[in-house]
Amino acid sequence: MKELTGTTGHIFNEPLLWEKGSTGRMGYSLPRRDVDTVPVAKALAGNGPDFPDLSELDVVRHFTRLSQWNFGVDSGMYPLGSCTMKYNPKTNERQASLPGFAGAHPLLPAPLSQGALKLLFDLERYLGEVTGLPAVSLQPAAGSQGELAGMLIFHAYHQSRGRPRSKVLIPDTAHGTNPASGALCGFKAIPLKSNEQGVLSPEAVAELMDEDTTGIMITNPNTLGLFEDNIKEVARIVHDRGGLVYGDGANMNAAMGIVNMAQTGVDVLHLNLHKTFSTPHGGGGPGSGPICVTRELEKFLPVPRVVKTEGGYELCEDYPESVGKVHAFYGNFSVLIKAYCYTRSMGPDLKKASQYAVLNANYIRESLKGVYHLPYDRPCMHECVFTDENQNRFKVTTLDIAKRLMDYGFHPPTVYFPLVVSGAIMIEPTESESRETIDEFIAAMKSIAREAQEQPELLHQAPQNPKVQRLDETLAARTPCLTD
Ligand SMILES: *Cc1c(COP(=O)(O)O)cnc(C)c1O
Repeated sequence: MKELTGTTGHIFNEPLLWEKGSTGRMGYSLPRRDVDTVPVAKALAGNGPDFPDLSELDVVRHFTRLSQWNFGVDSGMYPLGSCTMKYNPKTNERQASLPGFAGAHPLLPAPLSQGALKLLFDLERYLGEVTGLPAVSLQPAAGSQGELAGMLIFHAYHQSRGRPRSKVLIPDTAHGTNPASGALCGFKAIPLKSNEQGVLSPEAVAELMDEDTTGIMITNPNTLGLFEDNIKEVARIVHDRGGLVYGDGANMNAAMGIVNMAQTGVDVLHLNLHKTFSTPHGGGGPGSGPICVTRELEKFLPVPRVVKTEGGYELCEDYPESVGKVHAFYGNFSVLIKAYCYTRSMGPDLKKASQYAVLNANYIRESLKGVYHLPYDRPCMHECVFTDENQNRFKVTTLDIAKRLMDYGFHPPTVYFPLVVSGAIMIEPTESESRETIDEFIAAMKSIAREAQEQPELLHQAPQNPKVQRLDETLAARTPCLTD
């Protein structure tokens, strides 16, 4: 039988570097001394730093062994939902580290930064094309900061019409950053219930949308992986009452080249370049969350803006109605280079990437349907949501299933999110996983469902194969052991 990519085999122990080595061992060789020795000044002498004496091989093995305790998208399938964790082509990293880009100083005058400015200018146009919203700022450093910039624009818009508003509508499927961004901007977040189909109903929006509500924040596809099919009607209601529509584009991986967000009624949308446009994420950044807006709202975008003049490209600060600056210089440039290379190298195939992402998620949904309970039994977009309802009979929970997946060599999917689904297991395979890998994942999930029925205690003790087994989740989060 074909070997599965499980976690058996060598799992190395590795002590601290301070417990290794031996006095006098060295990792380098200096040429023979050809000058006289001079005593080191007294103040500099002391006992010296507490560094262990190690050979080059000691150090190489130490860090290589430690690296094998990790799991990333380069080692196996990483099916987290909502946050797209897809494989990012290495060539984009390479282009971003070209010396001309990596060494460019942000304070260089425009005439000496024409290449960098052109890249920013063109990337704005590409992202405008992908979203249908033509005016773009690349400044925000994350989706959440894009949301904040968007909320500032909502405020500036209403202010400019002489009547600031105080509330914002947030669907119950929203990512936690949505109400947080609204609140940071001084808006009261009004929760909006989604219907039995897992999407927004125009009636619910009509009931809450009033003349003191700045607008609505909508994630489309939403965090259940479902397309908000009433979006046009919802946007019409919000616009009719003077509000604006914010699109959370974190799930754009399902819609590139397929959905024109402007035509669905969105006025401001952020993209997460570290999700959809080829910057690896997790581990703390850097990220990038550009915002794309309608021509009508362009004057409120953060400054500086990159503009094209007869003499070349320039940074322009002259936008009196701008919400101001939201990031140093013009954002996280290295991420923008990767997004530029990705967009250029994919071209019209961006659409194919989204189609494959959606196909793969639906393949998993159909293959595991019945084995795991599907709370919303309808075609999904880039991710599908199951629950542990069928396994609860055997006292097996979502957490047990997620932990057991590690024994089969897969990173667990997102669990217990979105909050509207009890015991949620949210799977996003992305476009880049092969049919074979996805089939192995499905086989592992089916095998775990069998185990739940036949040997539930096995799942309660999972995982068995990884370096550390079942942790006390609360203790691990509250009292992390960072020193040994
Ligand atoms: C990831 C995500 C965000 C926040 O984006 P960050 O870049 O992590 O700040 C917002 N909404 C949704 C739906 C997301 O998945």
